[in-house]
Amino acid sequence: VSARIIDGKAVAAGVRERVAAAIAAEGLHPGLATVLVGDDPASAVYVRMKREDCAQVGIESFHHAPPADVSREDLAALLAELNADERVHGILLQLPLPDHLDDAEMTALIAPDKDVDGLTPVNAGLLMHGREGLVPCTPSGVMELLRHDGAQLEGAHAVVVGRSQLVGKPLAQLLLAANATVTHCHSRTRDLGEECRRADVLVAAAGQRDLITADMVRPGAVVIDIGTNRTDDDRPTGDVDFDSVREVAGSITPVPGGVGPMTRAMLLENTLDAARRAQR
Ligand code: NDP
Repeated sequence: VSARIIDGKAVAAGVRERVAAAIAAEGLHPGLATVLVGDDPASAVYVRMKREDCAQVGIESFHHAPPADVSREDLAALLAELNADERVHGILLQLPLPDHLDDAEMTALIAPDKDVDGLTPVNAGLLMHGREGLVPCTPSGVMELLRHDGAQLEGAHAVVVGRSQLVGKPLAQLLLAANATVTHCHSRTRDLGEECRRADVLVAAAGQRDLITADMVRPGAVVIDIGTNRTDDDRPTGDVDFDSVREVAGSITPVPGGVGPMTRAMLLENTLDAARRAQR
């Protein structure tokens, strides 16, 4: 039997509707500042899409595009200005920054209550402590997909492949908070296949095309593919060998159309959240 396909586009559309309805009903005027340093074409596309999403749901966006050679001091000054601007509830600093700037150092200058990417040490710490903060968009999008798919997380064995600050680590924390038993794999894991085969919920976030093959998946497992890679003919593809794994898994996210749209939608939800908190 072929797996159920988890339709990230549809779930993301539901999140956008929920956000738009809440903004209208609560009379909020959320604002998101986007900061794009330099002219990397892929980053420019991401930021443009995020701003279009904002416009669709009633979030005002304020775009800033410092030049690629902006100094550390000038970028810090811009972030300080945005931290102080009451119209701005969320600040999105598009990564990666040019080489002369340190991604982590600059991200840490964002006020934690405006850190809608959930990447500051304060928000990472709050997540670790099980306290309310802003959670990174991709992991919270994955949790939303799992909820939507009706996955039973309590007591389930969840395996996360990848341990980045942006994706793997926060996702493992969220799964743990949902009472899953979490195994965290990475490039030094001795037998990845053996670990993955024990998963009721398997999440791949390694950035390695076709890393997860059908023999690594337990029949009926939920498989979430965060990976974003390209095929030889330049089509988007994930970390999971979709065609073979779908014959084994119980449900599976496609690439594209799975986690990607959720990441965008959760940014809107985080901005709404930040705007609500600013009112309290
Ligand atoms: P990183 O490169 O920061 O982290 C990759 C992680 O995967 C590392 O922890 C690494 O282990 C681990 N890894 C790499 N190769 C293997 C392997 N062969 N076996 C086991 N583990 C391995 O990537 P990100 O976390 O930022 O992103 C992961 C993927 O998700 C990328 O493809 C990225 O493009 C995609 N992505 C997609 C998003 C979306 O919205 N769909 C959003 C964000 C990211 P180690 O720590 O030991 O090096």
